[in-house]
Amino acid sequence: MKRIVVAGAGGFIAGHLVKELIKKGNKVRAIDIKPLNEWYQVSDEAKNLVLDLRLKENCYRAVNGCNEVFNLAADMGGMGFIENNKAACMISVLINTHMLLASRDCGIDRFFYASSACVYNGEKQTDTDNPGLKESDAYPALAEDGYGWEKLFSERMCRHFSEDFGLVTRIARFHNVYGPHGTYDGGREKAPAAICRKVIEGHLKSNKEIVIWGDGHQTRSFMYIDDCIKGIQDIMYSEIDFPINLGSSEMVSINQLVDIVEEIAGYKMERKYDLDAPKGVRGRNSENTLIKKHLGWEPSIPLKSGMKKTYNWIKEEITNNAKGKKRVSRFNK
Ligand code: NAD
Repeated sequence: MKRIVVAGAGGFIAGHLVKELIKKGNKVRAIDIKPLNEWYQVSDEAKNLVLDLRLKENCYRAVNGCNEVFNLAADMGGMGFIENNKAACMISVLINTHMLLASRDCGIDRFFYASSACVYNGEKQTDTDNPGLKESDAYPALAEDGYGWEKLFSERMCRHFSEDFGLVTRIARFHNVYGPHGTYDGGREKAPAAICRKVIEGHLKSNKEIVIWGDGHQTRSFMYIDDCIKGIQDIMYSEIDFPINLGSSEMVSINQLVDIVEEIAGYKMERKYDLDAPKGVRGRNSENTLIKKHLGWEPSIPLKSGMKKTYNWIKEEITNNAKGKKRVSRFNK
């Protein structure tokens, strides 16, 4: 039985990862800075610790006595958050730096780092018809200001810890992940959850107007959480010793994403476009040649089916919140 540290476990992706690792019989130390009652999912079988992982001593406490580390802790959110909180995003560099030092000194066997498509050069994302970003498109570097530069720097730090200290590191560049138990309000939410929330609230209040950020033609791909959790583990236990895309290649415009949500809801809205809102790059997609070559697999859960599950979960949450019910979901094996 392995002892595994999951950092950022109170958040969306790492919460699902803890659940999966526990199901597989591992001993999991789940860590987040948020008080336990704000975690999205809590496993009663994990050792749950509330620690600020920007602090070096807390990283040693987190890692000591374990075999593997998955670092998904970061101060992050959707475009609305990262465009307005660049310094906060960059401070996450302390988390990965101290987690790497602690992992090196405590004899960790494998270290996973959650990077992002925001590392890619902005000049390769100026067209809605993006052919897909290859791993090599991160250089010459012109990452998303703040958040993307921190991810790129931390990727390189992982690489040098491997080269100089022999720590086995694995890095996935996530492209927009969505699904149940994610952020859907409060300012850190991403487009799929935000659109679901706006359509659900509009429907409940019989309000027809929906505000879309940008002109709606900007393109993205979205990966359902189950694909993400499989990909994280497959990359962690592979021989892939370079940053690799983990994303869907099913590219849609934001308008098409709204179409999908309206179809699920059975409710059509009138779109207003806020051209001054944060909108990010013009076009982004995941190019999956390398993941297919190395894993014989790529994320493939269709957007429509993933969005249906996400929509239903957010609807239930909004209904429960209106009744004053708590959000944390506890789970056992
Ligand atoms: P999330 O915000 O839901 O989870 C991140 C968690 O990290 C939060 O619970 C937060 O409280 C915790 N955290 C922040 N600062 C901390 C600290 N100092 N000490 C301990 N914990 C701290 O985000 P997520 O969507 O689950 O993303 C997980 C990882 O994947 C992040 O590194 C993120 O940058 C990366 N990523 C996510 C996406 C996506 O679409 N969700 C895309 C690209 C990359």
